[in-house]
Amino acid sequence: MNEKSEVVKNDGVYSCPFCGSKKINLCSQTVLMKTEDANTGKEVDERTNKIKKLTNREKVIAYNNASTDGVGCWYYSCRKCGWVSKIYTE
Ligand SMILES: [Zn+2]
Repeated sequence: MNEKSEVVKNDGVYSCPFCGSKKINLCSQTVLMKTEDANTGKEVDERTNKIKKLTNREKVIAYNNASTDGVGCWYYSCRKCGWVSKIYTE
């Protein structure tokens, strides 16, 4: 295990253990519900059960409603030097 695999946190501020940059991304897995036809792979509108291409607005709503609860898997990365942390789990 690389000792530089953990993000540095000081007073609630994350920084890179490698270059010290505070340009840290938090990358987390989310649960995003998506409905599509099992045979054709076409998107289905859950409310009407009709094949329907989702609009960008509907996709944004789905994305914003996506839950990070109960997934518990995330990592950090540095936008300056490209460092990537280990995968954190709950
Ligand atoms: Zn860095």
